[in-house]
Amino acid sequence: MRWNNLSDADRNAAPGLFGTDVVTRTVDTPEFRGITFHEVRARSLVNRVPGASRMPFEWTVNPYRGCSHACVYCFARRTHAYLDLDTGAGFDSQIVVKVNAAEVLRRELATGRWQGQHIAMGTNVDCYQRAEGRYRLMPGILDALTEHGNPFSILTKGTLVLRDAEAIARAARTADVSVSVSVGFVDEELWRTVEPGTPSPLRRLDVVRTLTGMGVPVGVLMAPVVPFLGDAPDQLRATVRAVAAAGAVSVTPLALHLRPGAREWFLRWLEEHHPQLLPSYRGLYGDGAYAPRWYQRRVTGQVHELAAEYGIGPVHRPGAHRFRSPAPGTGGTTPGEGRQGPGGTQLTLL
Ligand code: SF4
Repeated sequence: MRWNNLSDADRNAAPGLFGTDVVTRTVDTPEFRGITFHEVRARSLVNRVPGASRMPFEWTVNPYRGCSHACVYCFARRTHAYLDLDTGAGFDSQIVVKVNAAEVLRRELATGRWQGQHIAMGTNVDCYQRAEGRYRLMPGILDALTEHGNPFSILTKGTLVLRDAEAIARAARTADVSVSVSVGFVDEELWRTVEPGTPSPLRRLDVVRTLTGMGVPVGVLMAPVVPFLGDAPDQLRATVRAVAAAGAVSVTPLALHLRPGAREWFLRWLEEHHPQLLPSYRGLYGDGAYAPRWYQRRVTGQVHELAAEYGIGPVHRPGAHRFRSPAPGTGGTTPGEGRQGPGGTQLTLL
C-alpha cells in the first residue's frame, strides 16, 4: 500500500480544487489498482437541490465524487471538471471520499434548523461504488438517519448495498425508506462495454429480490434505455420481465441523455464500438442532449405496457419517493440536469 500524504503546499492548494472541503491525503492501493482516492474532510454534507419543486427530491447526501462504476454515459462526469479533474477516465479513477461524512451528517441532523425532510442518496454518484467497500461510510450515514427517524431513499447499481441490508430494513420499519436499483437493460454484451465497472444487471436484480424479501420496497430505474442498442422490443421485454421476476414494486424508464461531459465520452465510445450507429445518433439527438419527445414517449409507453403485462406497480405509497422520468423536452429541468447545490455538488441520476 502506498500512502501519498500531501505536502503542506498541496494542502494549501487543495481547497481550491475541492471547494470548501479540505483534502487530507491521496491514496493509491493495490486492492484498487488504477484508482486514486482523495480523502477530504467535508464541511457540510446535506445539499439542497435548487428548484426542487420540479424534482422528485429536495435534499441529497453524496459521500463520494467520481465513480469507479465507469458508465460511459454517466451524467455526473462533468462534475469532475469543477474539481479540475478529468471528466473521462479521471471521473472513473479519481474518487473523492468525504471521510467524515457520518460525523458531519449527524451534526447537521441534530441542528434545530433541520426539519427531518426526505434525503435522497445516489443521485449524483453511486454511494455503493467500490470505494464504499474500503471506506464503509454508508453504515454510519444509515445509523445517523435511523437514529433521527429521518426518511431517505437510495439509488444504486452497487450490490454492496446488500452489506447494509439489515440496517436499511431496520430503518424502513420506522421511517419512509425506499431503494431504487438502476437497470437499464439485461443485455450482457452491452453491459460489459457500456457499464464496465458495475455488477451485472442480473446481480443488481438480486439486490431487488433480496431487499424486497426483507420488506424494503425496491423500484427499478430502467436507465438508460440506449437507442439502437438496448431499445428493441425484445430487449425491453426481457428487461421488464426480469425486473418483474425480481419483485420490483415499480419500473421507471428513462431514455439515454447526452449532456455535455457525458456526450463527448459516449460518442467516443460509440465510434469505437458501433461506428455504424453514429449517423443514427446524429439523426436522433442532433446537437442536443435529449432524444426527441416522440422517442421518449414511445419507450415510456412500451415499458408501461410491459409493466402492466408482467404485473409491476403502480405503487402509490404516501410519501414514497420514486425516481420518475423527466417530462419530455423540458431541457434543463429534469432530475440530474446538473444543477449545482450549495455544497458545490451537481445533481444527476444513475
Ligand atoms: S451512472 Fe451511476 S453508477 Fe454509473 S458511473 Fe455514473 S454515478 Fe456511477
